[in-house]
Amino acid sequence: MFFERINRFRRSLVFRLTLVYAATCAILSIAAFFIFYRVMVSDMIAHTDDDLTEELHELSSLHASKGMAALREGINRKAQSVGTGDIFVRLLTKEGKEIVSSDLGPWQGIGISRIALKRVTQDEPVFETLKPPGWRHTARVIYGLAGPEMVLQIGHSLRDDEEILEDFGQDFRPVIAIVITLAALGGWLMARRALSGVKKVTQTAIAISQGAMEKRVPLTGRGDEIDRLSQTFNHMLERIQALITEIKEVTDNIAHDLKSPVTRIRGLAEVTLSTGRSLDEYQTMAASTIEECDRLMGMINIMLEISEFEAGVATLNISQVNISTLIEEACDLFQPLAEDKGLVIKVKVSPQLLVSADRSKLQRAFANLLDNAVKYTPSGGTVTVSVKKGEKGVIISFRDTGIGIATDDIPRIFDRFFRADKSRSVPGAGLGLSLVRAVVQAHGGDVQVSSSSGAGSLFTVVLPHESST
Ligand code: ADP
Repeated sequence: MFFERINRFRRSLVFRLTLVYAATCAILSIAAFFIFYRVMVSDMIAHTDDDLTEELHELSSLHASKGMAALREGINRKAQSVGTGDIFVRLLTKEGKEIVSSDLGPWQGIGISRIALKRVTQDEPVFETLKPPGWRHTARVIYGLAGPEMVLQIGHSLRDDEEILEDFGQDFRPVIAIVITLAALGGWLMARRALSGVKKVTQTAIAISQGAMEKRVPLTGRGDEIDRLSQTFNHMLERIQALITEIKEVTDNIAHDLKSPVTRIRGLAEVTLSTGRSLDEYQTMAASTIEECDRLMGMINIMLEISEFEAGVATLNISQVNISTLIEEACDLFQPLAEDKGLVIKVKVSPQLLVSADRSKLQRAFANLLDNAVKYTPSGGTVTVSVKKGEKGVIISFRDTGIGIATDDIPRIFDRFFRADKSRSVPGAGLGLSLVRAVVQAHGGDVQVSSSSGAGSLFTVVLPHESST
């Protein structure tokens, strides 16, 4: 259990981010230390070289102005004033033979570089860093000319400088440990804070998977990436819930709307089974049964057709269709029906408007819209159908002076099986407009409605036009 928790923590993003943060801080601190250390070392050497150069000039000037005895005295004075353990001075011939030197006690065995003796010139002294025999520290040595055929060799111990550097190195260790600990702590807090939003999304997803469909991720209001993720997640949940509700409604509607014809068919069959019926009655019952079955089949076929359109798998027989004549023909077809009902159909068509479309599918869609306009307009009303060229395509509108649609119902009228309450007295299955929308959208078009209760309706279809003359 304990090890499992440790393992889970080790796999967590918080742990990995903390590790990356701490490692980055450690690497940067160590790099900063080394850069600082190198700068210190070169500064110290430069400083020592300046001292050595100054001492070289001092002693060689002494030799030049006052001679060998003064130089000898100067060498001893220098060694005593600085300390024989910290400095030595030696006068050499160009071949490396010692002429005179300070107390070389602590510098026993200190070598003479033949290369340095060869390279040294009047203007260019030669420097070298070396470790005297038995020493823990290094020393910096200068070779410079002190007269014709004479070279001054002066050495400075770097012990003090190196001790400072060692102290610095030792002090740095606890400092870096503190920096890494603070970095890990800071990284952990930051990672936890940054990922707390992700945790909330996970918790919400878990709650939803356990059935709490109404759960949503709380927003922090910071407007950061996590807030945007939570917002998108919440929108997705709203959409899924809306889809589930829609599917449930459609299923309920399907069950309800298919139940009525099946019940009627069953009723007819039961009556047929009862005895003492005449042949005419049997024939009427059989005809009614066939009619109900056809209605049922018709509904099922439309449902399948709408599903195919919505899934994008419906096949369209595309050709160039003259919408103007198509609408005129459709209106002619509905003319007798409208006359029977005491309605007037007015047609306003701009000629020769062409679209690329499936002619028979469009015919059905327009027939549905015309059928509705006639169906839901009481006697004495007018249905006006117009076709004109618009900016986005050919605009076909169906305006009626009928019962209209309540504002609340408008968003739902394209849903499968939806029927407004006041239109239930008129026959219909509630599938016509769903098919219209599916067909129009499959052609890359759009259908809109504007209506209000009692004030008639206007359905507008826009189809992208291929060419017009
Ligand atoms: P229906 O078979 O019921 O006509 P539709 O899908 O064609 O099915 O229409 C859905 C609903 O939209 C109708 O039941 C009706 O309430 C409303 N509707 C459609 N067209 C009109 C219209 N022209 N006037 C008033 N209401 C309409």
